Amino acid sequence: MKTSYFGNRKLGPGHYLVRISAYPCRFKKSDAFAGLLAPPRQLLADLKAGEIEMDEYEKRFRKHLYSVGVPAIRQQLAEAIAPAGNREPVLMCFCGPGQSCHRRMFATWWQEQGEKLIPEL
Ligand SMILES: [Zn+2]
Repeated sequence: MKTSYFGNRKLGPGHYLVRISAYPCRFKKSDAFAGLLAPPRQLLADLKAGEIEMDEYEKRFRKHLYSVGVPAIRQQLAEAIAPAGNREPVLMCFCGPGQSCHRRMFATWWQEQGEKLIPEL
């Protein structure tokens, strides 16, 4: 499993795209959606409105992940990637390289929970 962003040109037919963004992508279709890993829409709205900074966003997103819990996330991921076949699952959102992004916050958190490292594609 990897993480990546919708605009990444390295994405190809060997990848199975699991959207974890709060909103769908207009220019690239995802194969699956793992909504537990999407930022809650209110959290995203607060960030976009400038009401919170990125460190507060991360704090609240991690709180969200803890409240959902590892077993539920593990189960939803397993269900999302079940149809992937030989394709490599990629957890997808919009943020480009170098941007602070919830997909890498999740990957860090996931590893902290004793789960596998999920590298960026
Ligand atoms: Zn993102």
